[in-house]
Amino acid sequence: MSERDAGQEVLRLQGLRKSYNVGKPTEVEVLHGLDLRLQRRDFAALVGASGSGKSTLLNLIGLLDRPTGGELFLLGQATSGMDDGERTALRGGSIGFVFQFHHLIQAFTALENVLMPLMAATGKPDGEQVARARALLAEVGLAGLEERKPDQLSGGQQQRVAVARALVSRPALLLADEPTGNLDSKSAAEVFQLFRRFNREFGCAVLLVTHDPRLSAQCDRTITLMDGRIECDDAPG
Ligand code: ADP
Ligand code: MG
Repeated sequence: MSERDAGQEVLRLQGLRKSYNVGKPTEVEVLHGLDLRLQRRDFAALVGASGSGKSTLLNLIGLLDRPTGGELFLLGQATSGMDDGERTALRGGSIGFVFQFHHLIQAFTALENVLMPLMAATGKPDGEQVARARALLAEVGLAGLEERKPDQLSGGQQQRVAVARALVSRPALLLADEPTGNLDSKSAAEVFQLFRRFNREFGCAVLLVTHDPRLSAQCDRTITLMDGRIECDDAPG
């Protein structure tokens, strides 16, 4: 990755707000105006107590939900005025998502699961895309297991399939919400090392929610949410 690419802005939040139950007696604001920038080189942990708003923020950044105020720029594009189709297209082309529970499709093989995002975007995968998915499965240590269904894989292997699926569209931004929370420590370390390598080699910015201080200590930047506000952001340099 060149120095210029490394500094490319992937994400910018300006005064981002989120309320739930808008217009009802139970309306509650859970994000109170967040400002944040992420560049392609960034490898950041998002930490904070349960209920501080981490998942809410990741769902907004991943364009799975809409903010109630402020602006969210993805790859320089303001997203608030976009319709659902534009948001889906931008998400598919720029964001990979890994959740705590992998959400693999049980009826599909590992290879088919990895190909899912490409099929959603273009219909049927071509030979180059199948080759790319196979190469990614090999990179996450699953060569030879391409035809297995999720229930024929261990928990750590399933999560590695989910990581390959998140990366197959070569996203500029990888969002991970407690991706290792369900794994033993060896599998968790392996998944973490994969994120590290993809960040370094392909300039995929990583924003990782984790409760594990051993993992957040290995990130380059730690963003701490407290009660819906960014309490501190330790960026290097
Ligand atoms: P975290 O991921 O840091 O644990 P969340 O983003 O899940 O935090 O939740 C932040 C706050 O928003 C919590 O008080 C939670 O109860 C509330 N919340 C989350 N989702 C909803 C929802 N769909 N409706 C109403 N309140 C919600
Ligand atoms: Mg959460």
